[in-house]
Parts: sequence; C-alpha cells; structure tokens
Amino acid sequence: MRANQIGSWKNSNIGFQRDFIRYFESLATLALYSRQERRTLIRREANYQGADSEIGAPAELRAEIVVIGSGPGGAITACLLAEAGRDVLLIEEGEHLPLSSCTPFSTEEMLQKYRNGGQTVALGKNKIAYVEGCCVGGGSEINSGLYHRTPPEILEHWRKEFQVEALAEKDLLPHFESCERDVSVSMLPHAAPPASLKLHDGATKLGWKSLEVPRWYRYEDAVPKSAIGNSDKSRAGRQSSIGSRQSMTETFIPRFLNAGGRLLSSTRANRIRQNGDGWLIESAHKSSGVIRIVADSLFLCAGAVHTPALLRRSGITHNIGNSLQVHTTAKIVARFSDDVNSADMGVPVHQVKEFSPRLSFGCSISSPAYVALGLLDHPEAARETSRTWQRTAAYYTMITSEGRGNIRTLPSFRDPLVRYSLTETDRRNLSDGLRKLGQILFTSGATELYPSLTRGSVLRDDSCLSKIPDVLPDGLANLMTIHLFSSCPMGEDKSKCATDSFGRIHGFKNLFVNDASLLCTAPGVNPQGSIMAIARRNVLKFLNK
Ligand SMILES: Cc1cc2nc3c(=O)[nH]c(=O)nc-3n(C[C@H](O)[C@H](O)[C@H](O)COP(=O)(O)OP(=O)(O)OC[C@H]3O[C@@H](n4cnc5c(N)ncnc54)[C@H](O)[C@@H]3O)c2cc1C
Repeated sequence: MRANQIGSWKNSNIGFQRDFIRYFESLATLALYSRQERRTLIRREANYQGADSEIGAPAELRAEIVVIGSGPGGAITACLLAEAGRDVLLIEEGEHLPLSSCTPFSTEEMLQKYRNGGQTVALGKNKIAYVEGCCVGGGSEINSGLYHRTPPEILEHWRKEFQVEALAEKDLLPHFESCERDVSVSMLPHAAPPASLKLHDGATKLGWKSLEVPRWYRYEDAVPKSAIGNSDKSRAGRQSSIGSRQSMTETFIPRFLNAGGRLLSSTRANRIRQNGDGWLIESAHKSSGVIRIVADSLFLCAGAVHTPALLRRSGITHNIGNSLQVHTTAKIVARFSDDVNSADMGVPVHQVKEFSPRLSFGCSISSPAYVALGLLDHPEAARETSRTWQRTAAYYTMITSEGRGNIRTLPSFRDPLVRYSLTETDRRNLSDGLRKLGQILFTSGATELYPSLTRGSVLRDDSCLSKIPDVLPDGLANLMTIHLFSSCPMGEDKSKCATDSFGRIHGFKNLFVNDASLLCTAPGVNPQGSIMAIARRNVLKFLNK
C-alpha cells in the first residue's frame, strides 16, 4: 500500500480503515523494537525448578477438585486447597515459563506471555484494546505489581447493591494482610524513577493528592508497607535495586506444587458438563490433544473474559458475561527538556488520586517500544523515538466507567466476541482526565504532549488543553485497558448476580467462580489486591475455615 494511501486510511472517517492501519502499525512497531531489544539485551537464563513437577498429559484424568486458570484467582485457590490436603489439578491454557524467561516489559514478554501477543480488542463505537496474560500465573506474570486494597466505600456499595454477605472492610482485612505477606507487598527501597516523580511533583504543585503505590516486589533492602507516606527524599540516596516481581510463579504456584498439587499447562478447557454431582471438563492439550477430566468440584478462574466465555460455551448463561466492566484508559506521551527515562527505569509507582474513583492518573511503562506505541497517532514524533526517548515518558488517565460490556461466544471461533459501550459521562470523564493529566504534566515541566487521539495535534502549553473537546466524540480516542472484571458478579441478588456471596454459581452444585469476574463493579483501583483477598476468603469458606 502506498504511503499516501496509508496516510488517508489512517485519518479516514471510516473506522475500519483507521483500525486496519493501526493494527499493522502496532505489529510493525513491535517487530522493530523486538529486533532492537534482542540485539541489546542479554537473554536471561531460565532457572525454575517448579516446572519439573508438572504432569504429562494422559487422555483421562481425575481429581477431587479441578481449578481452571492459574492467574492470581486460580493460583491462590489451587494453592490453599492443596495445602489443606485436597487432591487438586490446576489446568492452564498458557505455557509454564519461569519469570526469568524474558526481560520484564519487553516485546519478547508480549510475544511469550500475552494472549494473542497483546492484540485483543473490545468492539463498540469506541474500541478498547485490552491485554491479558496467557501463561502459568496469568496477568501476575506481566503486570506492574501496583497494590491497593479495595476501597471501603466500594465494598459497601457491593454489599448493599448486590447483597454480598461478609464483605465489610473488617471481614476482608485478614485476607488482605495474609496476601500482602505472601506476595511481599512493599515500598520501593530507593527513589522512584524520574518519570514517576514528574507526575508526583506536578500534582503536588497543583495541590492534588499523589501517592507512591506499594507493589508485590521483593527487594534486598525492602521498605515495609507501613512506611507509606515517607518522603521520597529520605530514600533518594539509597542504592537502586530493580527487585523481582512476586508473581504467582514466584509465590503460590511453587507452594501449590510443594503441597502435592498437579499442574497441567498448555491445556485449554473447552467445555464443562455436569457429571452426577460433579463435573466433566473437555480439554485439549497443545500437543497431545483431547483430555477428559473428571472432578467432584470445579473452580473457574480463567479471568473476566474467559470464565464467562467457558460457561456460555457450556450452556450456563444466567447473568454470565452481561456486565463486564473495565477501567478505560487514555494515554498522553510527554516530552521534557531533561532526561526522565532510562533503560533500567523500572516501574513508575506514583498515582494521582485527587479525583478518585472517577479519575486516576499514573505513569506507564516507558521503554522505547512502549513510547513508540503510544505515539502511533503522531508519526513524526514516533520516528524520533530512538533519539528522544530518554526525555520522553508515557502517562495515562484511567476512569471508573459507568459503561458495560458483554462477552459472547461464536460458533467455530476460538476467542469470544467482547463488546463494550462507554456512556456520555464516561466520554466526558475521559476528556476531563486528559485535560487534567495535561495540566499536571505541563506543571511539572513537559514541553510537548502527544495525546492518543486520532488526528490529535501536539499540545505545547496549558492553553492548548482546551483543544481537547468537553466530551470525546465517539471513535476519536485510541483507548485501552489492562483491568477487566465484573462479568460474573457475586451476591445474593439473583436478578443481577451470577454467583452467591462466595462464588458458587446460582443453581449449580460444586461449581464456583474465583477470579476477577466476581468483582461486582469496577473497584476504581488496580484490582489484583481485591482479586487475591476475595479468592482467599472464598476458598476458606469452601474449606469451612
Ligand atoms: C499489562 C498488565 C498490567 C497490569 N498491572 C496491574 C497492576 O499493577 N496492579 C494490579 O492490581 N493489577 C494489574 N493488572 C491486572 C491484573 O493482572 C489482573 O486483574 C489479574 O491478573 C486478573 O486475575 P485473574 O485470576 O482474574 O485472571 P488472569 O490473571 O487473567 O488469569 C486467568 C488465566 O486463565 C487462563 N485461561 C483462560 N481461559 C482458559 C481456559 N479455557 N482453559 C485453561 N486456562 C484458561 C489464562 O491463560 C490465564 O493464565 C495488570 C494487567 C495487565 C495485563
């Protein structure tokens, strides 16, 4: 396709033409940077003992309890059940790769551990690109580790609106505390990356609340979570240590295997059927083909898209996959006159919570590949990435959207169809979020801002922020999300809930959901803390503890 035709499709009024070009531009950007990363980065050695405990793939298997999906929900479920002496089989569609199999946040990681290499999208008037992990450990293997407890007012809303029992702050407290110990939630032992501090400084100058968010990372010189609020300056002189992400393959999966649990990776559960009081799981292993698995009890933990997809494929549909919610995110790439980015920058840790839960702001992973992807709407700036990326970083505004989505399966298609509708309030909040984020970044010294808006112009000072419309027109913004939930909400209100207060699917025996799908609505904060605590609470209830 000729350059001028690409240009006209890129700015076309026809959504399909814009999406087509964007898809290929993303692939080309990923391919380019993965070649560069391979040349410059040393591949880490795989060194993980747990994989040895994996079982082969016979045609028939039996277990007292089967858990499908090994992300935070599934790994915690399987681990606690195995540690309680139960016979547990954990099935995971993705491969069992050690955390060290690739460089964190590299394009190699996307290709190894993301579902479809990260190219998945929720359709609607405003398409929302979303990414999910597809490997043992699920999203925990690829995420930034930013930890929040569920805000008490959100728990209260879920208790009242969805009639969820035993979900007050005091009920969840022991589960938060236990999970925080298990995955080593802690503060950075050294000063935050400069790009993260830019956000913090800009917000602080505006008088807006900004905080360093703790993470599930292990550092040799860790600062306990109780040190939240200590100034960054007190840590500025400390030696930098990148630390290691305490993902599921570093924490609950080895514990599960040590407790005698069996792990079957590269195996996808295609359909489930009732089998007396138990369940039959029709699965397929990547190389050895069909496996029939029989279980007395079944926990579905395949994530907010694939748990409802599996249930719907199996004919279980009541309140399943009708109420997906996401934290919709729009990005701005900011350029500064001084260096804010480096090859060992690590994860930015600050978030601005002044307008939470309606709006939150943060700094994204900003490797050259991620910066170039964030600049797809600004090709001239994207071409300069290799020269300017040290002065450049990507930032986001995230809304707690009112809108909802649904998940439907299509005959002969492997992946489900995901649709999402933003409301006018959502689009107004996204505009407001982009303007406020722009204000923070200009206050902290940014010289140019590149918002992820089709045909968007470069913003060079505060006065340009009024160019962002009050309500984002449909199709104008290039939106994405990494937080998906609420597709099988829990609660006693059977008119809107898929499961009871502890994840048992209404109307079915011995069938449970225990992952992000259960969160009744968007929590307004990074969700893994909520998912882990609720999963632990539900397993202990199952075990009658
Ligand atoms: C890039 C990125 C960054 C993020 N950063 C943060 C963060 O900083 N803080 C935070 O709190 N949250 C973060 N999140 C979100 C967090 O990772 C997810 O909310 C969390 O992983 C969801 O847990 P889950 O157990 O519900 O599902 P998942 O983690 O999605 O796990 C589900 C697993 O089930 C498997 N599976 C699916 N279908 C099948 C099937 N049919 N058969 C067998 N297996 C199946 C999948 O392969 C997957 O491994 C991030 C997410 C991403 C993608």
